[in-house]
Amino acid sequence: MDLKSYIRVIEDFPQPGVRFKDITTILKDGAVYRAAIEQLKQTIQHLQIDIIAGPEARGFVIGAPLALELGVGFVPIRKKGKLPGETITADYNLEYGADVLAMHKDAIQPGQRVLIADDLLATGGTIATSIDLVRQLGGEIVGAVFLIELSYLHGRDKLDNVELYSLVTY
Ligand code: IMP
Repeated sequence: MDLKSYIRVIEDFPQPGVRFKDITTILKDGAVYRAAIEQLKQTIQHLQIDIIAGPEARGFVIGAPLALELGVGFVPIRKKGKLPGETITADYNLEYGADVLAMHKDAIQPGQRVLIADDLLATGGTIATSIDLVRQLGGEIVGAVFLIELSYLHGRDKLDNVELYSLVTY
C-alpha cells in the first residue's frame, strides 16, 4: 500500500511556511492504519526488541500498536508534569518550540533493548531527547522507527549513532 498517498499535507500549520504532514488521514482508515503498522513491523523485525518507547502524543498511536504486534511492552515519554510516578527529565527543542520531556524512573530496566517509535522525524530534537532519557535509565537503543521522515530538516545528522527506519520520505 502506498502510504504517502494517505498523508494529508496542510500548508502553513502550525505557522506560516510549515507544510504539516497530517497522519490522521491514515489513522481513521482501519485498513490503512493496519497496513502502516504492518510495514513498520516488517522494517524492524530483524532487531531484537525488549520494549518500545514513544513520545506523546503521536508516538503513542504508532508505538503502542507496534508493541502489541511484536508482543513487547510500551512505555510513554511525556511532557514534564504529566506522569504520576517518579520521573527523570531532559530538555528538548522542537521544529516549533522548546519543552521538557520525562519518563518514569522504572520504565526501562538497565540493559533492555529499546526501540523508539514516533510518527515523524523532523529536526530530530524529540528523538535525540527520547534517546537521552532511555540511556539515562540504562536502556540500549536498538533503533528508531517513523512513519515519515522530513529529510530536508536533516534530523539524521543529529542521530548518527542510531539506526533510523522510516516508511515515507519528503
Ligand atoms: P523533531 O523533534 O523536530 O524531529 O519533531 C518531531 C516531532 O514533532 C514529532 O513528535 C512530530 O509529531 C512533530 N512534528 C513536527 N513536524 C510535524 C509534521 O509536519 N507533522 C506531524 N508532526 C510533526
